[in-house]
Amino acid sequence: MSTFQAPKGTYDLLPPRSATFLAVREAIAAPLRNSGYGYVETPGFENVELFSRGVGESTDIVTKEMYTLTTKGGDQLALRPEGTASVLRAALQGNLHKAGLLPVKLWYSGSYYRYERAQAGRYRHFSQVGAEAIGAEDPALDAELIILADQAYRTLGLRNFRILLNSLGDKECRPVYREALQAFLRGLDLDEETVRRAEINPLRVLDDKRESVQEQLTGAPMLRDYLCDACKAYHEEVRALVTAAGVAFEDDEKLVRGLDYYTRTTFEFVHDGLGSQSAVGGGGRYDGLSEMIGGPALPSVGWALGVDRTVLALEAEGVALDIPAATSVFAVALGEEARRVLFGKVTELRRAGVAADFGYGGKGLKGAMKDANRSGARFAVVAGERDLAEGVVQFKDMASGEQTAVPLAELVDTVRARLA
Ligand code: AMP
Repeated sequence: MSTFQAPKGTYDLLPPRSATFLAVREAIAAPLRNSGYGYVETPGFENVELFSRGVGESTDIVTKEMYTLTTKGGDQLALRPEGTASVLRAALQGNLHKAGLLPVKLWYSGSYYRYERAQAGRYRHFSQVGAEAIGAEDPALDAELIILADQAYRTLGLRNFRILLNSLGDKECRPVYREALQAFLRGLDLDEETVRRAEINPLRVLDDKRESVQEQLTGAPMLRDYLCDACKAYHEEVRALVTAAGVAFEDDEKLVRGLDYYTRTTFEFVHDGLGSQSAVGGGGRYDGLSEMIGGPALPSVGWALGVDRTVLALEAEGVALDIPAATSVFAVALGEEARRVLFGKVTELRRAGVAADFGYGGKGLKGAMKDANRSGARFAVVAGERDLAEGVVQFKDMASGEQTAVPLAELVDTVRARLA
């Protein structure tokens, strides 16, 4: 072990588990790529104000969890705690939002940073794959995103997840509700911090996980009873489209989520095998965010799915992804001359698109065959001085153990034929 360890709340992705992470990212991205979403990549850090204005001054993410830094030049930056604000900023800066081109549909994959209390499933560095559909108010877009996330989870083989759905209203009806809720909360017996939260962001109190708070919330005014007609109709249409797609969801009136920018549709994907960190993904509509960061009105909707927790969910369900062996052919050379020749053949195989590896380190037959086994290769190619003198290599089927001599000149064609 070295003197150094990965920082608290972080961990390294190492083989073989890292292959599952790649497969999860790919499985989430595939339905997006297949549905008109283009790839976007933004910097790992942004001007800190993008997040304080975008995500919200009163959220935990901004007040407690952001990694901020001042550069030598005096710029105030923050490691990105989430993807939506950055992606919207990039779309605006890149002028992707010109009339006629809307909605702009983008997907991304990357690392995010939050200074959280580290525990199982909650890290300070984590991975998300996300999607944003920018610049259209259309319930079919909200439905599309929910359906695509469901498709991603199902292709991975996940079963024990649930979709929670709610509407947070819009700038017409939410303020009225906010006031009614605030009046109710003022009558409760809450600790100082919660009282403060009730004044800044009362909806978040609904989300409080503590029993002592939840008990007191019975009888609280519910947003459902305050939704304006437009929000009600919009939400009904989203529900109808998702239902028609055969995707089951639960209405959850208390689903608020920890980011201030959400309006109307909000949803979360929860997995029941993960204990307290049960949210594997979440998202919603953020019709006001563009204006909050200085852009034009651009009603939008998006989600982010957590890669780390999706992997944990797979492990909790005992789902092993079908990950093909990385190596198809493993070459073992005995002696210097064979080493040069087989190394050349491995290069040739790789250039022909065959996944090939080579026994390095001069281990001798036994040790090198162990490496061949470990690689998961279907075939081993073994050659010593005598084989080369005869112009052949030994071609071994690792599953059956069957071994045949193959002329050196025919090796690449033989391998390709046997793999096909
Ligand atoms: P959020 O932006 O908080 O809605 O997060 C979206 C998804 O990202 C969550 O459902 C989690 O799967 C994942 N996520 C968020 N924060 C963390 C974290 N600290 N550690 C691991 N995954 C996280």
